[in-house]
Amino acid sequence: MTEQDLIATVIRPEIRALSAYKVADASGYIKLDAMENPYTWPAEIKAEWLKTLYDAELNRYPDPEAKTLCRILKEYNQIPEQSKIILGNGSDEIIQLLLLALPANATVMAPEPSFVMYKQVALCLGLNYQGLPLQDNFELDLAATLSAIKSQQPEIIFLAYPNNPTGNLFDSDAIEKIIQLSNGLVIIDEAYAPFTDFSFIPQLTHYNNLLVMRTVSKLGLAGLRLGFIAGEQNIINQLNKARLPYNINILTQCSAEFALSHPDIFSEQTKIICHERARMFLQLSTIKAITPCPSAANFILFRTAEDKATKVFSALKEQGVLIKNLSPQQGLLTDCLRVTIGKPEENNAFIKALKCAVA
Ligand code: PMP
Repeated sequence: MTEQDLIATVIRPEIRALSAYKVADASGYIKLDAMENPYTWPAEIKAEWLKTLYDAELNRYPDPEAKTLCRILKEYNQIPEQSKIILGNGSDEIIQLLLLALPANATVMAPEPSFVMYKQVALCLGLNYQGLPLQDNFELDLAATLSAIKSQQPEIIFLAYPNNPTGNLFDSDAIEKIIQLSNGLVIIDEAYAPFTDFSFIPQLTHYNNLLVMRTVSKLGLAGLRLGFIAGEQNIINQLNKARLPYNINILTQCSAEFALSHPDIFSEQTKIICHERARMFLQLSTIKAITPCPSAANFILFRTAEDKATKVFSALKEQGVLIKNLSPQQGLLTDCLRVTIGKPEENNAFIKALKCAVA
């Protein structure tokens, strides 16, 4: 049997049709492509953290329910007492978990453009995926969305709040209408919560079909791979059956418990990032050749002149700055690039390189 025949026999057609999620090699670049927090910890905090790892029993399986970490995460994120959470190896794993639990032929909806994993995982699992086109200003098209929900009754709708890659917060009244009309689950993905004061966590107790997903990645712990979803406890209990036991390893459990007991470090760092976001937005606004979009996250989307995005992206790379080129995704993202907010000196280097790139 040839390799091609073997692949056709053992791999589902929908997976064969996909391309893998690509991550650019960032070595040697000023890395402003992946919405990471650029800051690490002071040496004395690192030393304290290493002490907690010393006692981690690597010979034992970790707590399968990560009970201590769940309690700390609930407290840190002010999750209502009666809501329950489960953890994932990144919120990516939670997206997979949610979709794994759906009936065959279920329908998954998400705005477009938005975080690509909603569609990627849905297609991987052979589910029906339906994109909900955003308006030109990246706001939800509420009438079209409500009508799509009515006619197709999706089992799950994902709404990233703030949205990636556009950075805006969708209108909260529109989101509430979507939750009210939907007979399925509505997942508010608050990956960028550290950079905004708006959240649907207070609404968790009002709607049993609302789930709020968060991650520690953007807070400054992307390497740990830890996300969670909060919701009504009977729903969470069902989802928990599809979760692999021990999905949160012991080093992640110890490290996250330690890190979240030092909330001041993160609030200080996110404050600086938000301050830099405002400074970057002003600076980008003064460059005639580009148009930045207001952002409630730790990145800024900007539009270049027509057909110039890839040229600007490459010119930045040549000057040692790696950002994200979204233009190949086409649609509303044609001519768009996305830059993550870094340290002030990295942001200055980016602005300087960008001015050269568009000159
Ligand atoms: N949701 C959104 C909106 C994101 O942008 C990302 C990552 N960029 C994720 C979820 C996944 O985050 P993680 O798996 O690191 O928790």
